[in-house]
Amino acid sequence: MLLEFVLQHQQWLMLGQILLAFFLLGWWESANPFVRRSFDDSEVRRQTTNVLLLVTNYGFLYIVGLLFLWRLTSLQVHLLFDLSSSSVLWAVPLGVMLLDLGSYLRHRLMHWRWLWLVHRVHHSDEQMNWTTEFRFHPIEALVTLIVQSCVVLLFGIPPAALALYALISLAVGCWQHANVIQPAWLDRVLGWFLVTPSLHRVHHQIDALMLGTNFGVVFPWWDQIMGTYAKTNAGRQFGVLGLGDLDVHSWWQLLVLPLRRIKERHE
Ligand SMILES: [Zn+2]
Ligand SMILES: [Zn+2]
Repeated sequence: MLLEFVLQHQQWLMLGQILLAFFLLGWWESANPFVRRSFDDSEVRRQTTNVLLLVTNYGFLYIVGLLFLWRLTSLQVHLLFDLSSSSVLWAVPLGVMLLDLGSYLRHRLMHWRWLWLVHRVHHSDEQMNWTTEFRFHPIEALVTLIVQSCVVLLFGIPPAALALYALISLAVGCWQHANVIQPAWLDRVLGWFLVTPSLHRVHHQIDALMLGTNFGVVFPWWDQIMGTYAKTNAGRQFGVLGLGDLDVHSWWQLLVLPLRRIKERHE
């Protein structure tokens, strides 16, 4: 019943989540920030550019075939096994976990060779906030679509799991990029199940060593299993080295960023 509702109204629910994040996380960021800063013109420009990238990516994926992924789920193709024919009680949670494993592997892939040039767009935000969740290059959005399609094809992921994962990863993504702090005990407990803001912040640190850790998107377990897990630390310097005079708040400059050569590359 609930899953059917999620499936039928997924787009509206996601829009509702973004509006909720705007008010709730926006308030939290001003009330209890991790890094205190004023909401000046550059902050407005940064957040506007991030939201513009969300709109760009959504439009781009719509054109190249967002529906393609949904058609895959309705085709009920499965190469390894068919989750969609199993009971929803375990097919949906397992489907969500497999999709998140795919996201972890996709994120690791994005730090490899020329894909890093594309993924730099996400890391170029030196002052993280909840809208950093939307800061991706359209090519990365396409890679995400392809990886998710592969997971759907391999395991016969049911459409309800795909819709649920989209909602969960959006909610966790907005929260984990937010410039907020929460009580240490709560952060620790939540960190057992979710990639918290403090865990994801480690991945955004300008230090190349830190860039090679905490690739997880929703669950931290993949990093723990595959040896890329790093505990939270007090680092506050985010961004990418070697961007020179690039205007990191310019929508156009971010779109052409993969073509720019830089001296230093993280892998
Ligand atoms: Zn990354
Ligand atoms: Zn991030």
